[in-house]
This record gives sequence, structure tokens and C-alpha cells, in this order.
Amino acid sequence: MTPYDVIVLGGGAAGLFCAAAAGQRGRRVLVLEHNDRVGKKITISGGGRCNFTNIGASPENYLSSNPEFCRSALARYTPSDFLSLVESHGIPWHEKKLGQLFCNTRSQDIIDLLLAECSRAGVTIRCGAHIAEVAKGDCFRVRTADSEFSAASLVVATGGLSFAKLGASDLGYRIARQFGLRLTGIRPGLVPLTFLGAEREAFGPLSGVSLPVRIRHGHAVFEESMLLTHRGFSGPAILQISSYWREGETLCIDLLPQGESEVLPGRGTAVTQLSTLWPKRFAEAWCARCTPDKPVAQWTAREREETRRKLHAWPVDFSGTEGYPKAEVTLGGVDTRDLSSKTMEARKVPGLYFIGEVVDVTGWLGGYNFQWAWASARAAGQAA
Ligand SMILES: Cc1cc2nc3c(=O)[nH]c(=O)nc-3n(C[C@H](O)[C@H](O)[C@H](O)COP(=O)(O)OP(=O)(O)OC[C@H]3O[C@@H](n4cnc5c(N)ncnc54)[C@H](O)[C@@H]3O)c2cc1C
Repeated sequence: MTPYDVIVLGGGAAGLFCAAAAGQRGRRVLVLEHNDRVGKKITISGGGRCNFTNIGASPENYLSSNPEFCRSALARYTPSDFLSLVESHGIPWHEKKLGQLFCNTRSQDIIDLLLAECSRAGVTIRCGAHIAEVAKGDCFRVRTADSEFSAASLVVATGGLSFAKLGASDLGYRIARQFGLRLTGIRPGLVPLTFLGAEREAFGPLSGVSLPVRIRHGHAVFEESMLLTHRGFSGPAILQISSYWREGETLCIDLLPQGESEVLPGRGTAVTQLSTLWPKRFAEAWCARCTPDKPVAQWTAREREETRRKLHAWPVDFSGTEGYPKAEVTLGGVDTRDLSSKTMEARKVPGLYFIGEVVDVTGWLGGYNFQWAWASARAAGQAA
């Protein structure tokens, strides 16, 4: 059996970054990845250009049963720290909007960075490793289909359940349970929402149309674009709010986020007026469902008020979400009450660490999830 100091399960963003950090401290590190190559999710992230961090990332941009948990790791490894690393590798980048930093050319640049850092640290990476069993005696033992490995520390970086086609599995949750750690409820996040029947008939044919909106859920407010799909609503505003939305809740969408006060002043039809602000097809479909069927001049004061209210708080019910196959992240995970916020180590199982998306810390859309992957990985990599 090959001895290592640290075994990392999962060769994604968090796993590779943690392996490099531990290796650079002189630890002998092995990464076990079941895909045929590492970092598959990074490849497709950010539309192929990896939104690798958000310069403004702070604990307020994360959802967790314990919102304070992420504070320490995020403070000790900041977006500027990762950006310095990106620059030291000569990777060209740009800010797209709202502090979101992207590669100029391709996500592979970030994978190359992680692999270079691992190589510099002497990390061994094994792809195609199918993990059959994890056990703990004096040290951790990991059995794969054809080998067995041991190490004093085991870092679980197997991610969440979204995008199974890229290798997502529930291994991390199973290991947490095996060692007595609690799990919070998990569900898809940053995911398109699906229509109920009536809305689907009216808006489904408008797939591809998008418009700026503002959506609020409690204290969370997002002003971004909303995209219509065949089955529901997507686009940044909807993806963001989907992480807060719960089955059965009605979402109120402000369709005039710029606060146009003089809409529908009394001439022509609502469609003509709203077409100056929205894509015409959306104006037609929306007005057919939500405004009186007569020229605006003939509306009563009550109809006018009712329409104004709907324009700024259009109530929409959804049947559900598109689920894990289309979710960018998995909300919930390993309960942070059972982990040290300084090192990500399990409080009751010395040497066992959980990092990245498998933990109950989930970021907004916009580079926040990678920043959590880097920060939590770094915290564990300095301790494991
Ligand atoms: C389409 C898409 C686009 C995204 N774009 C962005 C973006 O631009 N910016 C951003 O911040 N976030 C983005 N995200 C979210 C981000 O990719 C994740 O939050 C981040 O990758 C989590 O890192 P991780 O290392 O915890 O998990 P992952 O990156 O998912 O890595 C987990 C690794 O573990 C491996 N693994 C799983 N099960 C096993 C097993 N049983 N045995 C061995 N290995 C296993 C997986 O194959 C994978 O390589 C995106 C997500 C998706 C799906």
C-alpha cells in the first residue's frame, strides 16, 4: 500500500487547490478522481471562460444554515489572493460586470494553473479512480477498484449533485454520514424555474426572449435579466432567486426595474406602450394575460392601478425547478456545525476534512462558488 500524508477525493476546483496547498507545505499528496480527467466542471464554467472569482465576494453572498461559517476562510484567502495567482500565471482576464472576473480566452487556463501548482508541489493525481471503500483505523484507508491507499488526512472534495454528466456523485455525503457528521437538506440551486400549465402555454413559445427585471425574496434582491425558456424562466435574475425560492412560493417580479413611473399614460394600447420597453412578443403575451382588453384611455382608475401593481410585482407561481441536471450548484450539504471554520476539519473525526460545494455553503451566481472552493481548500490545505 502506497503511503501518503493526505488523500484528496475529487479532482475539481477545491480538491486540486487543496492538494497544491498541502503539497507546497511538503506533504505527500494524492488526488483521486473518478473521471478520466480533472476539472471537468471548470471547463464548462462561465460559458467556457470560467468566472473564477468575484472581486467583491463577502459572507453576505453565500447561503448556509450558518451564515457566519464561511467568514474565516473567505477572509484568509480573498478574491485578490486568487487574482494574484492568476496573474502570476500570465492568464489574461477581464471583469464582465458586478465584480465577476473571467478568463479572456478559455477555462482551461484555470485548470492548467491548478495542474501547474499541483505539479510544483509534487502532488500525485490519479484519474479513473473508482472509490470502493473508505475506512479509518490508525489512518484513513481508501480502496479503489484496483489499489489501496492510506494517509493520515483525508480531504473530501467531491462536490455536489448538479451536472451528474460531468461526474457528480453523492460520495461526499455518504462519507459524511459514515463518520457521523450531520447533513442539512440538499436541493438544486442556481437553477431555472418551471412554469405551471397556464404560464407555459402563454410564455413557452417565447423561448429565447429576455428582459431586465428585479426580483426580491426576503432581504435578497437581484436586478438582472430574465430569460424565457420553453419550460419556464431562467437567466441570471431567476437563477439567483432560485436558490432562495421554496416549492409552493409565489415570486413577485418587477418588470420595470428602472421604475418608469409614467407608463401607460393613456394613449394607444398597453402593448404599444410596453413594446417600447420590452421585446414586443413578451409585451403581447403579458398584456393578453395581465391587462384589460381595451385601449388604455378606457381603463378605469382601478384597472390602471391594478396594472401598475402587476408591472412592478407580477406574481408568478412555479411548478418546480429543472433539477440537478441543470442546476449550477447544490444547496446544503455537510452541516457546518460539525466542521471547524478555521480548517474545515470534522470536529469529531481528526484528519477528516470537507471542502468546496459538498459543504453547506453555497454562493450566488457570479464567481462566488469558485471563491468558496479556493478559500475552503486553502484553509484545509494549510492544516491537513
Ligand atoms: C454549468 C456550470 C457552470 C458554472 N460556472 C461557474 C462559474 O463560472 N463561476 C463559479 O464560481 N461557479 C460556477 N459553477 C459552480 C462551480 O463549478 C462549483 O461550485 C465548483 O466547481 C465546486 O467545486 P468543488 O471542487 O467543490 O466541486 P467540483 O468542481 O464539482 O469537483 C468535484 C470533483 O469530484 C469528482 N468526484 C465526484 N464524485 C466522485 C467519486 N465518487 N469518486 C471520485 N471523484 C469524484 C468529480 O468528478 C469532480 O471532478 C458552475 C457550475 C456549473 C454546473
